[in-house]
Amino acid sequence: MASLREEDALSEQPYRYIQRDLVEPDWRRLPAWQDVTPGQWADVQWQRAHCVKNLRQLRQVYGGLLAEEFYADAERDQAERATMSILLPPQMVNTMVPDAVPSTGAMYADPVRRYMLPVFSDRDRTWPSHPHASRDSLHEAEMWAVEGLTHRYPTKVLAEVLPTCPQYCGHCTRMDLVGNSTPLVAKHKFELKPVDRLDAMVEYLRTNPGVRDVVVSGGDVANMPWPRLEAFVARLLEIENVRDIRLASKALMGLPQHWLSDDVRSGMERLATTARGRGVMLAIHTHVNAAQQVTPLVADAAKAMLEAGVRDVRNQGVLLRGVNADAHQLLDLCFALLDGAAIMPYYFYMCDMIPNAEHWRVAVHQAQRLQHAIMGYLPGFATPRIVCDVPYVGKRWVHQIEEYDRERGISYWTKNYRTGIEGSDPAALTRAYEYYDPIDTLPEQGQAWWRGHAGDAMTTGHALAAASRQAAAAAVMP
Ligand code: SF4
Repeated sequence: MASLREEDALSEQPYRYIQRDLVEPDWRRLPAWQDVTPGQWADVQWQRAHCVKNLRQLRQVYGGLLAEEFYADAERDQAERATMSILLPPQMVNTMVPDAVPSTGAMYADPVRRYMLPVFSDRDRTWPSHPHASRDSLHEAEMWAVEGLTHRYPTKVLAEVLPTCPQYCGHCTRMDLVGNSTPLVAKHKFELKPVDRLDAMVEYLRTNPGVRDVVVSGGDVANMPWPRLEAFVARLLEIENVRDIRLASKALMGLPQHWLSDDVRSGMERLATTARGRGVMLAIHTHVNAAQQVTPLVADAAKAMLEAGVRDVRNQGVLLRGVNADAHQLLDLCFALLDGAAIMPYYFYMCDMIPNAEHWRVAVHQAQRLQHAIMGYLPGFATPRIVCDVPYVGKRWVHQIEEYDRERGISYWTKNYRTGIEGSDPAALTRAYEYYDPIDTLPEQGQAWWRGHAGDAMTTGHALAAASRQAAAAAVMP
């Protein structure tokens, strides 16, 4: 008869669940913050005033802990590859190498550093960008019903209410618009004044009763002065057809002090009370990619929002190589969110095809394997879907693929609705749209094919899509 210990070994699971306590890393291990008090750390103004915005400030924080090579690597990345400038609140910095005094090697290997503070040597040397990578790779601006309001799905819209965030992520999908320009990317600017843009959004929602769901995003809503955000959401709550409102804020994790401040908590309570009274579901969506970023302060912020009366706090992470593209890392993160912070794991998006993102992206078949590997551990309602945001299509669960050329890494997807720019286009529901795996993940024959075709102007799918949009536009012309 097998002993208990032997039975344990036999029943070993691919992932072993352990309930872990959340830990706030000790910021005093960093030279610049040795004397910072808990009161200062908890103060949102102190956090905002001490953000790291450039290499000089990064040196001030880490001092001699990091080798010159690391600073030079980060500087070269900003000069030659970065699509986002550096912006890191102390809270975010403190989650890098959280359990030790950081060394150069530990910083290079750290998952948070890899996506929040990219360095040149992280990027793929041969194919830093996919040949079909582009700014605004999801074509959101093409689908603006009014400036900043993307109407892609039939019943829901994305309201980009501002173009800034308290932190800038290296892989930002909205690198086209969000943040400061970098040597590589001159950011697009909204043309309307903020007040006119928000007015136009509200008017569009009032006159389009088919829209029931508004994602209020940016940027990050934590950068909008609270009274302006509250006034905007209050106007949305007056629109009869709006039934779901989700506020998008990575700062719930990167700057939880914002969501813990008194004015935000009391304002959110007012909004949540109105929402409940009108039967509208008001939720917060955040963006956490690594378990070590779920700290007690993040849990406090999430719980404060739930106490204020929001229906849910959900996480939409991004699947990133070197950060979380591993079943254990994903499950550790989901359990930290769920057990420790009452944040619902919701989605992991595959990293979009923006410039210089190849080292972060994973192939669709890898994402499918990850989805398979994380099933069955979390409650069904908290098991995140891994989704691919396919250009001109929208979110597709990674198993919804129609066809897949594994050698060249080209997957084909269809959709079951028309986006806002397809009108009565008869082919919109049958056309296959393409998505591309990172070239370094392909077999040698596939990589050789791309070496010969990298300069092709347009793929078949894009050409067909462009023809279709022109046909649809012509059809609605008087
Ligand atoms: S918080 Fe969101 S919008 Fe802001 S930089 Fe990060 S990914 Fe982009």
